[in-house]
Amino acid sequence: MKRRLWHFHGGLRLPGHKAESMQEPIQTATLPERLTIPLQQHIGEPAEPVVEVGQRVLKGQMLARASEYISVPVHASTSGTIAAIEDRPIPHPSGLQAPCIVLDSDGQDEWIEHAPINDYTELESSALRNVIREAGIVGLGGAGFPAFIKLNPGPRNVVDTLILNGAECEPYITCDAMLMQEQPRKIIDGLLIMKHALQARRCIIALEDNKRNAHTLLVNALHEHESEFIEIIQIPTIYPTGGEKQLIKVLTGKEVPSHGLPLDIHMVCHNVGTAAAIADAIHEGKPLITRYVTVTGDAIGQPCNLEVRIGTPFEALLEQCGWRDDRNDEIIMGGPLMGFTVDNPAVPVIKTTNCILSWPTTKEQQTPMPCIRCGECARVCPAQLLPQQLYWYARAKNFDRVQDFNLFDCIECGCCAYVCPSHIPLVQYYRFAKTEIWAQERDKKKADQARERHEFRQQRIERKKQEEEERKRRKKEMLKKSQGDETGGEDSKKAAIEAAMARAKARRGEKNSPSGDKEDA
Ligand code: SF4
Ligand code: SF4
Repeated sequence: MKRRLWHFHGGLRLPGHKAESMQEPIQTATLPERLTIPLQQHIGEPAEPVVEVGQRVLKGQMLARASEYISVPVHASTSGTIAAIEDRPIPHPSGLQAPCIVLDSDGQDEWIEHAPINDYTELESSALRNVIREAGIVGLGGAGFPAFIKLNPGPRNVVDTLILNGAECEPYITCDAMLMQEQPRKIIDGLLIMKHALQARRCIIALEDNKRNAHTLLVNALHEHESEFIEIIQIPTIYPTGGEKQLIKVLTGKEVPSHGLPLDIHMVCHNVGTAAAIADAIHEGKPLITRYVTVTGDAIGQPCNLEVRIGTPFEALLEQCGWRDDRNDEIIMGGPLMGFTVDNPAVPVIKTTNCILSWPTTKEQQTPMPCIRCGECARVCPAQLLPQQLYWYARAKNFDRVQDFNLFDCIECGCCAYVCPSHIPLVQYYRFAKTEIWAQERDKKKADQARERHEFRQQRIERKKQEEEERKRRKKEMLKKSQGDETGGEDSKKAAIEAAMARAKARRGEKNSPSGDKEDA
């Protein structure tokens, strides 16, 4: 029986440009002489260095530990010496620098000792999550949220369905498709570990209907496992089916609530690459130090997929793939719709680098024109937003109104900008508004914390003052009491003297009596 599927609102059917980079099997990228490993490669707080400049480290050794709850460690991608711990350019839309650990390779690629888990089913979910965290695993589908957090539903939540997302819907990107073709067993191994951690009832692996090879290979691998609770489902190739909310809608017909999470409807979604990384961490004791990256685009001579060490400079990969080395070529991290331009080709590959795309900048640049209110953007928006309104309010910096129009439900898929006849870079406005709102919230949080600290200090001073007053009052009272005791002592002394004198007088009276005279005689 054919499984029922649903549709999400909007979306686009786009030319895939996938075949170009899928001609060859995945190759290993050349080991560079120097790796630059950013301390923050994920959503959350940066990791804290645990190594020093000049120290020799082994491949897989932890270089920086998680600093807060939403944080994961980073590890050495090869053996060598720490050359610097300082700010370096990183791949980010801002183009800013960030703290990095610079590692000079010694060419020996010497591993630390691996510590695989023999039987993960004997581990409690929390212990399993801890191993996954210590391996530095984040979501490899793009956002880079620490994987262990998404494997922790909390004591009151039940996970009905765990979805493994193999829908790589953005044009040009093929690293997940290649992974599914080359490592189907590993993906299923990782899925089973995740299922155990989440205690999920059933699992779905979803991929688009244009990935026939990957589908066949996954189905074959699943037969080896005989896991009746895992379904492999092909879905229509519509962009952006790979969006978490869109995928859930297509597979189950259910809507994740606005501002909500899949867990709110008892579902959890992970990327296929994350599953493979988890299998490596548990079964082989390997931390996340490499990932698959698609290197493609019109400026690339041999588009392909490479297994790349985290920290490898973009330019090293581009050169390995026959980049024309024309510094006017545009370099994009990610796909053509959701990616961002990288100005410096020396920036390193990080855990969320799924694709490096390069094409000539001579590509026709469209000048933005005024909005003509055609409504095309709303027609294609998969989040059912009003992109035109978001644009107006973001442009006017009216950050309250832009939130009223659910800015944070925007997945930045770029469908609206793609169809806009006025060529307005709509997503740039949404990103700008989000960044501003986050900055304002950060400032507010800081101000609140400063106010709380001040109030706490005032309370402490006040309490100390009261305690001092109380201490003085008690001391005074005691003094008064002891003086009172002293006065009471004088009285008793006087009474004792008087009593003694009375007794002496009585004795003298007895001596002067007649009987007393006789005795004297
Ligand atoms: S598609 Fe462009 S021109 Fe049309 S309403 Fe949206 S923003 Fe305006
Ligand atoms: S970028 Fe945002 S507003 Fe535009 S279509 Fe995608 S989800 Fe909708």
